[in-house]
Amino acid sequence: MWVKKTPEELEEAERQRRRASFNPSSSVFFAACIAMLIVFSDWMGWHGAGSCMRSCIPLPFEKAILKLPFAFLFSFCMFYGLKLLGLNPFLSASSAGICCRCSKVQTVTRRSLCECGGNVEPIENFRWVPGDAGTQDPPDPDGK
Ligand SMILES: [Zn+2]
Repeated sequence: MWVKKTPEELEEAERQRRRASFNPSSSVFFAACIAMLIVFSDWMGWHGAGSCMRSCIPLPFEKAILKLPFAFLFSFCMFYGLKLLGLNPFLSASSAGICCRCSKVQTVTRRSLCECGGNVEPIENFRWVPGDAGTQDPPDPDGK
């Protein structure tokens, strides 16, 4: 059965969430991918659609690789900036929640109410405890 986390557990989860929001590793990974794609496409001669009309001459690798630091820096600033603003383009927040009154798992929007009239809180505020009522498997956290 789903049990609401204690204030201490909620505080610790919030601390971890905040710490994770400053972790740049995913931004580094995506920026590196984009930068390598830019360098590779220049090397292969795959310029943008507009410039391809004029010339599709592949750049020598030594020239194409010079773009790598700039492409990486630009992409990293863009991805990390979006992440710090809470606009992670690669992740969507979980929209699953649990009714505090009837414990029904459901899809939520911010400040939504259950059909029983109880408040629906984000599923992150609960934890699964196998117990007497726990003869069934935990519901899918995504609410599918
Ligand atoms: Zn309810």
